[in-house]
Amino acid sequence: MPELPEVEVVRRGVERHVVGHVLERVEVLHPRPVRRHAAGPGDFAARLTGRRVEGARRRGKYLWLPLDSGDAILGHLGMSGQLLLQPEGAPDERHLRVRFGLDAPYELRFVDQRMFGGLSVSEGGAELPAEVAHIARDPLDPAFDDEVFVARVRRRSSGIKRILLDQTVVSGVGNIYADEALWLARVHGDRPGTRLRRADVLAVLEGARQVMLAALDQGGTSFDALYVNVNGESGYFDRSLQVYGREQLPCSRCGTPVVRVSFMNRSSYFCPRCQPRPRTPRAR
Ligand SMILES: [Zn+2]
Repeated sequence: MPELPEVEVVRRGVERHVVGHVLERVEVLHPRPVRRHAAGPGDFAARLTGRRVEGARRRGKYLWLPLDSGDAILGHLGMSGQLLLQPEGAPDERHLRVRFGLDAPYELRFVDQRMFGGLSVSEGGAELPAEVAHIARDPLDPAFDDEVFVARVRRRSSGIKRILLDQTVVSGVGNIYADEALWLARVHGDRPGTRLRRADVLAVLEGARQVMLAALDQGGTSFDALYVNVNGESGYFDRSLQVYGREQLPCSRCGTPVVRVSFMNRSSYFCPRCQPRPRTPRAR
């Protein structure tokens, strides 16, 4: 699944190559990715055709493209979605779902195999689509407020990992980044927010920023090319992960084998020495 840095790479690519251009043709090749547009694929295409793209913005893993109509195209990549720039006339991808012909020698394509993602028209959503207004800012957002985050975490009794995955507290920290951030901060994901010191929460936040920025740096070359690509298998995941996916391999800090436990239908990875489990309160 694309995590926030991959979505940010796509946003930057769109900003660089699509903003300022007019959507000359809009072709919906499969209805499912535009299912949230109640008026149907025909209306989706009609509302967008002829509009100029005025920006490329992001809240968490949602992207939106403000249009000169005051509306916006709102998109989520889901599990397998990609936004690609391709030269006009390039062969269609097998899972090509929506094509935007531009006043340019290339076109923007939404490709999605599993189709959990999608695109919709957000009416009046150019500034901030109502659909994403409830989503918290992410740690890389310049307007993110660290002290508000610390206060919110320390009011919650759930485990810090669960809090990190709550999009109303902080957005864009997926399962992989949460594990990496917690390892960097030497904090076990089950430690309740109410039991964390301010310094622990700030360390976790710093860890999240570090891992996200490293991923952005490594994705940085892909938006220099015309081809803007996103997929969950970026090189970052192969080279730089410290705990995620490394069950029984030695922790790079202390050599203790990394442990995997199941967590909300997924997995959590941690170093049992660097990130001791919280002590459970003694039964009375
Ligand atoms: Zn360790």
